[in-house]
Amino acid sequence: MAASTQIEIEDMITVGTLAERLSIPVSRLITELMKNGVMATVNEKIDFDTAQIITEELGLGIELIRKSEDSGGNRSGLTHEKVKPSAKAVTRPPVVAVMGHVDHGKTSLLDKIRSSHVVDKEAGGITQYISAYQIEYKGREITFLDTPGHEAFAAVREHGAQLTDIVIIVIAADEGIKPQTVEAIRFAKKVGVKIIVAINKIDKPGADVNRIKQQLSEQDLLVEEWGGDTLVVEVSAKTGEGVDNLLDMILLVADIEELKADLDVPASGLIIESHIEIGRGPVARALVEAGILKVGNYIVAGGSSYAKIRTLEDDKRQAIESAKPSTPVTITGFRSLPDFGDEFVAYNSEKEAKEAIGQLLKQKKNSATRMDISSSELIRLINRNNQVVELNVIIKADVQGSLRSVMDSLKALDTEEVAVRFVGTGIGPITDNDIRLATTTNAIIYGFNVHVPASSRQHAKRDKVNIKKYNIIYELIDDIKEELSKLLKPEVVETELGKLTIKGIFKTTKTDLICGGEVSSGKLQAPALARVMRGKTELATAEITNLKKGPSDVKIVHQGEMCGVDLKTKQKLDLQEGDRLEAFTRELVERKL
Ligand code: GDP
Repeated sequence: MAASTQIEIEDMITVGTLAERLSIPVSRLITELMKNGVMATVNEKIDFDTAQIITEELGLGIELIRKSEDSGGNRSGLTHEKVKPSAKAVTRPPVVAVMGHVDHGKTSLLDKIRSSHVVDKEAGGITQYISAYQIEYKGREITFLDTPGHEAFAAVREHGAQLTDIVIIVIAADEGIKPQTVEAIRFAKKVGVKIIVAINKIDKPGADVNRIKQQLSEQDLLVEEWGGDTLVVEVSAKTGEGVDNLLDMILLVADIEELKADLDVPASGLIIESHIEIGRGPVARALVEAGILKVGNYIVAGGSSYAKIRTLEDDKRQAIESAKPSTPVTITGFRSLPDFGDEFVAYNSEKEAKEAIGQLLKQKKNSATRMDISSSELIRLINRNNQVVELNVIIKADVQGSLRSVMDSLKALDTEEVAVRFVGTGIGPITDNDIRLATTTNAIIYGFNVHVPASSRQHAKRDKVNIKKYNIIYELIDDIKEELSKLLKPEVVETELGKLTIKGIFKTTKTDLICGGEVSSGKLQAPALARVMRGKTELATAEITNLKKGPSDVKIVHQGEMCGVDLKTKQKLDLQEGDRLEAFTRELVERKL
């Protein structure tokens, strides 16, 4: 094809992301896939070939190109794609995520690391849950991400950036490699991060470390003692054995990889979580990747979320003035919620930040390829004056992956008139907090695969908050579609009835008029509306309140018949013989998305 736009995509891409890249509604893509016999939901991945065929079928004038992968190695992807360090760059802490099969001990391992190496514990020894935090080990910092799962990484990756430097794959020594382990390994390799395998639960009687090493080799991860270069550490999250070895290994890898970032560049990074807090408004957790983020900076995230940083907090909720690369921070001051995975850039002045938004919008116009602004954000931005009517929703889901899918699908519903506004999103059951937030923001709460505790149910009832629970994503989307449809302005449908030529005027007051004439085409009916015409000029619109044939009132008068017409007008009308009435009805018809 000659003048087609080219878009690069990965080998595998989720339906939702492909739709976003193609700038078409997800539903359209799913329908096209179905037509071709592919039943895929919004967060399911399709391969490049399928994507290419479907894109062609859609006839959008877009050509897909396969993004070239790093050939096998898992080192080259380590540098953050957008922020290439210069010669002046300084060493930064490694960013580490823990992945693996359920119950193999990811949480326990993170807890162990945190409890033994985070000094500032809160009362009772329980550090408040934060999605990213730093520990100090041997005088150096390591940043850990409490990862919601690889879907989240994938989402970030799709945004063209990379969140982590090192992935720890946790494998329970008594269970060995399981499907989710394989998935995690595959994912880590694909993204190109350094892998460290932590063989966990070595305190258990059934632990069989050799068997696991064997299984690893089947996954092309050959341990060092067998001539490979896969790093393996044996640990017990229960007893703490080997945990320091694991941390040593992390620092070693960080040194080998020479993880660096520039300090004297505008601060940039990624949003890793966002929600609304009562009294604080939109709150975002972010990871600084380069530069120094400061209170008072103006930041633009994901293209259109904008903040003058009011406060910055570290992972222990302590107020800080600035944050260096690899530091997780909580930011307040956003005007609207940024999205998970959004990249942000900081500017020193509001002017620069606004110019950046303008620039991004221009880019969006020029190319549909690499843009982080979701359609809803864009629509919201363009319609600053708010012609868009928003449906406030709070979404709670069981896991980050499903939350992401629900949100992606919902964003695809936005139109120029109506949009879904996420006033709160989160993982886990629907809580009293959610109910309070729903009350203050007049939002509907949607639960996807989550539980509503009895107390929350009671509060919701008392505060008349609408909670809707779904287990099937399409049912949830259909429900929100219905709700959005209710916000659409009804369509005005006018139906022409017929024309009457006026032959006599019997009475004229300020607002009432009685005239008579012959129906020249169609029919007249009462009640109805009529345009009062003289030649080609419309004098007014009037209401036909009554029709008379001879002495009797009638509802309808047909072509060729004579009748009297009672008209109600807004102002006094000076009718003449030969003027015409063009009768029509006007209905408001509800619209659907
Ligand atoms: P996750 O699903 O991967 O986060 O796994 P968890 O951290 O929740 O651990 C699952 C179960 O394994 C829990 O009952 C833990 O107490 C237990 N567990 C985790 N690590 C160890 C370990 O090193 N030794 C023993 N004996 N049990 C462990």
